[in-house]
Amino acid sequence: MTPSPRDHGPSAGGGPVLLDSRYQIVRTLGRGGMGQVYEGVHTVLGKPVAIKVLNRQLAADERSRKRLLREARAASAIHHQGVVEIIDFGETPHGAVFLVMELLQGRDLGAIIAKGPLPWPRARELLRQAAGALAVAHAQGIIHRDIKPANCFVVDGPDGEVIKLLDFGIAKIDDATDSTTGLTATGEIMGTASYMAPELTFGTPAGVATDVYALGIMAYELLTGAPPFRGKNPYDVLKRHIEEEPPPVSSVVAGVPPALEAVVRRAIAKKPEARFSSMTELEAALVAVSAPGAEPMGALARDGGSADRMGPMGTARFTGVVEGPAQTGATMALATSQMVGPASASASAAPMVGPASASAVVPSMPSSSRSPIDGTRPPSGGRVGLAIVAAVLLMLGAVGLGAWLLLRGS
Ligand code: ATP
Ligand code: MG
Repeated sequence: MTPSPRDHGPSAGGGPVLLDSRYQIVRTLGRGGMGQVYEGVHTVLGKPVAIKVLNRQLAADERSRKRLLREARAASAIHHQGVVEIIDFGETPHGAVFLVMELLQGRDLGAIIAKGPLPWPRARELLRQAAGALAVAHAQGIIHRDIKPANCFVVDGPDGEVIKLLDFGIAKIDDATDSTTGLTATGEIMGTASYMAPELTFGTPAGVATDVYALGIMAYELLTGAPPFRGKNPYDVLKRHIEEEPPPVSSVVAGVPPALEAVVRRAIAKKPEARFSSMTELEAALVAVSAPGAEPMGALARDGGSADRMGPMGTARFTGVVEGPAQTGATMALATSQMVGPASASASAAPMVGPASASAVVPSMPSSSRSPIDGTRPPSGGRVGLAIVAAVLLMLGAVGLGAWLLLRGS
């Protein structure tokens, strides 16, 4: 059963649920690995807040309580618009352990990406902001250690989308106090498997390089709709981080400029020393990649797209059928440039790893869909037809002009 603040006995008599006599619980916002997040109001100030209440079992555990306290300390030490503001932290007489944050209006990136890949300009701006906020955290000796779309909240600001990093819950504060808590003891692997750098599995402590790797994986996911490594269980995924090279982004979506491919590849290099040495460096590299020009857009056909390329929420993104006849090389290239989009109904929903199926299954996309890279529409068959007619007319015109000149000369 999911614990609620009432489980911890903050309010008697069935009235409004009060936490620590100060926060009135309004509704549940969501639930994660550590506990439940509620919308609440500070009863005296009338200020709306978000309150993360630790699971009852975790609240009883000294290490988990310390971890949440560490989240509170880590996040509240970073004053940056890209990091959620921590307002309060407490423990009720009934044993409820809670963290009070600013209430954000919007959605986390996990929910956004569940609808499909993002156009590059939008992805670039969000990644740039995340890198900027992490650069500030790193400068203060704070490593996030759990960068992933679900921990990046997106709110609408006056000048566009603003990212807010959540969950410094397993953040490592690089100071002496931390080592005395034992919370970062070696041998404890923390994080989310899909975003974990290979060296973490071997006990290398989290650092700037592992946050860079996680953000690189997130970049890959924003561009393609799914992280590069998925598997039957977390160990399987960790193994793939260590052993496998991810398919190039450009093998999944078309129109990826080589410079963008290079940034992602460097961020998720297997060797930490081969990655960007800082978030500032990664941020600059992201900014330097301009939106692609007249290159073809859309997802590419991948022979035997397998379930290991499944998107969030168990939706297979790379299975489908080619729409329309594919008679010539040109038409086929055109068709493949249009292939992206929701899974076919027959697609397996179970995450799987394994060899690609022999049948060439390729995704399909309605011709009205926009490119995941820059939001432009892919070239349509109609436009190509017009181009061919125009070329033939031009050739006829040139032949006619030549004949006229010849006749005139003679
Ligand atoms: P994990 O435990 O792996 O971090 P999670 O990120 O899915 O899992 P939580 O961090 O507990 O779970 O968050 C639960 C939900 O509450 C998410 O939908 C999240 O977007 C939302 N949420 C968290 N903090 C806030 C906030 N300050 N304002 C508004 N919504 C929030
Ligand atoms: Mg979270």
